[in-house]
Amino acid sequence: MPRKTTTRKKTSTRARSGKTAKAAPASQAKLAEYRRKRDFSRTAEPEGGPARTARKPAFVIQKHAASHLHYDLRLEHDGVMKSWAVPKGPSLDPSVKRLAMQVEDHPIEYNEFEGTIPKGEYGGGTVMLWDRGTYSYGGSNPDPDEGIRQGLQKGDFKFVLNGKRLRGSWALVRMKRRDQPGKPQWLLIKHQDEYAAPGSDVGAQYQTSVSTDRTMEEIAGGKSRVWHSNRGEAQSAGAQADAGPTTRPPGRKAQPGSAYERLMARHGR
Ligand code: MN
Repeated sequence: MPRKTTTRKKTSTRARSGKTAKAAPASQAKLAEYRRKRDFSRTAEPEGGPARTARKPAFVIQKHAASHLHYDLRLEHDGVMKSWAVPKGPSLDPSVKRLAMQVEDHPIEYNEFEGTIPKGEYGGGTVMLWDRGTYSYGGSNPDPDEGIRQGLQKGDFKFVLNGKRLRGSWALVRMKRRDQPGKPQWLLIKHQDEYAAPGSDVGAQYQTSVSTDRTMEEIAGGKSRVWHSNRGEAQSAGAQADAGPTTRPPGRKAQPGSAYERLMARHGR
């Protein structure tokens, strides 16, 4: 989403104007009128919205055997999963900086996906849920959402993972742009803390799904959903009902488009 206001400031009283709401993400924009009518420094009514609610933002890492094996790091922010493809995967060694190419934002529902994307489709290959959990902003901005937002713009932010396999403090730092076009390149770096493990190889340590305990081979050969990222909803529903490369057991009725297909249709892809 394009941001029109770059100097968005929040005060501790969190008084808001309509102008502020304009720059807010879609999920918060829905509460714009409610907020415009209220001065939250004077009323005890809730301000509402995703900021500072009990639910912490999600993170997921998917191991993806596409044309090149990589790990997709996704951090929930402003209603989407900000995403980076990390060719060598995360390292617990603070002296190791891992290249992380920022890719397009993904829908939050993608966090549930494990299975096989057919050959020839976008990102074709096996996807494993390698780690998941929540994360929190690790910087000094008193407003965590704003801290992440500014960090994404600035190209430097800290965050703390609370996953099954990855924990502790990390940083993403964007490298200086060269003149060549392409995906923004960041570095993923583990901070020194009690979860740091110099010399370790966490990718080799965990070879199975954090969700189903399957290996990549088992996922590839298993009864997982088969996704079609480049088909419209109606078309894919028909293809699935006919003769699509589905792994649906015989005799079981096809669903009218997988959850993924429905959400991709919503996102216009
Ligand atoms: Mn990927």
